Amino acid sequence: MSRDHDEFLLVGALLLTCDEEDSYYSDGAVLVSGSRIADLGSSSELLEKYPDITRIDLSGKLLMPGLINTHIHCRMSVLRGLAEDLSLEEWLQKTYVFRKSYLDDETQKMGVKLSLAESIKAGVTTVADMSFHQFLYYPIVEQSQMRAVLYDATMDVYYDSPRGKEIKQFIQRSAPERITLGAALHAPYSTTPELLDWFKQEIVDGSDVPYSIHLAEIKSEIEESWEKYGMSSTAWLAENGLLSSRMQAVHGVWLEDDDIRLLADHNVSISHNPESNMKLGAGVAPVVKFLEHDLLVGLGTDGAASNNDLDLFGEADTAGKLQKVYYKDPEILDAKKLIQILTREGAESLGLGEKTGSVEQGKQADLITIDLNQLHLTPLYNIHSQLAYSVRGHDVVDVWIAGREVMQDRQLKTLDESSLLEEISRENYRINRQRKQEKELLKSE
Ligand SMILES: [Zn+2]
Repeated sequence: MSRDHDEFLLVGALLLTCDEEDSYYSDGAVLVSGSRIADLGSSSELLEKYPDITRIDLSGKLLMPGLINTHIHCRMSVLRGLAEDLSLEEWLQKTYVFRKSYLDDETQKMGVKLSLAESIKAGVTTVADMSFHQFLYYPIVEQSQMRAVLYDATMDVYYDSPRGKEIKQFIQRSAPERITLGAALHAPYSTTPELLDWFKQEIVDGSDVPYSIHLAEIKSEIEESWEKYGMSSTAWLAENGLLSSRMQAVHGVWLEDDDIRLLADHNVSISHNPESNMKLGAGVAPVVKFLEHDLLVGLGTDGAASNNDLDLFGEADTAGKLQKVYYKDPEILDAKKLIQILTREGAESLGLGEKTGSVEQGKQADLITIDLNQLHLTPLYNIHSQLAYSVRGHDVVDVWIAGREVMQDRQLKTLDESSLLEEISRENYRINRQRKQEKELLKSE
């Protein structure tokens, strides 16, 4: 049955708002009007106030804000499972060569579709994507209805090319309220002083867009920076005027206390991506220290090529347990904090705190439901620990973004899942065949 209404009442749910007070209703309701949350409260109260509005019964389900994935490379999903058990340097090299040899723009667009579909099915309603040539992927993001921050990236190999012009054109285009346009520097180790100057002039000083940079992901970045500039990579960015509240630093695994203070002084936010850091053997980011310095922290999956999935609930589980192991303290980064980071604080870290991340009157209706009536979610004593340690992306049943239902009963409504699977497996077959032929050719030489 179609549930596409301009105004509707979600009733009978266990409603977790994720607002500042972490308020919840055991029998809660939300009135959605257009793209916004118009009202919320107990089901009996809202049914009495709005007797004539179309109702959607959510008995047995949890209703909560959609999750915020603060760092992803959507197009990279077509490389899932390709470059395994390698260091970041070797991984970057292998994925780069593979992209150049086998992937055209169309295949990378499939990766974007795949990532967005997988994300929606895992309850994500906002992604912050860092990619080169964002203009290619923008129409797919728009079609999916996903809320997004699109950081159009550059690195030194592109300097003095039309790339700068392309980024400037991209950030100046018009976009719906749902899509925020931004820019990115790939990383300090792939940025020359000339490119840094350009970025400072054109993006940091010359615009008001948000920007992102992979920072202190691996130890060699820090060592190289000390060798070249006589200071850490964070200090180098600070000295060149890059740090601001519009900046997102991704990873931060090797940040020293002085670096963290610098980031805190400039209100830079952090995207923490523990599974990617673990898989590439990069290290453990000192998240607890970030939080002690009042840095805004969000969680990210990074690309599916280094994770290898986009399940943000699973990421929260890993994030919590990893900090507990690292600091040998079970009280650190508890379940409640993990859920705040997944939702409200993640949104705030992207500058979207006014719009999304919690169920509050006036905010955008970015909502998900979870089927609680399942073996691995039973019994239920504490909803935060259930969400942080037991729920997985596949438990998400319905998803609304800006009031529009994009998944109903696990069926995607803005992307065609079966044709996407067909497209990708055809491409998978083509690439495997090409790789096999090349191997045979090498053997016969
Ligand atoms: Zn990344």
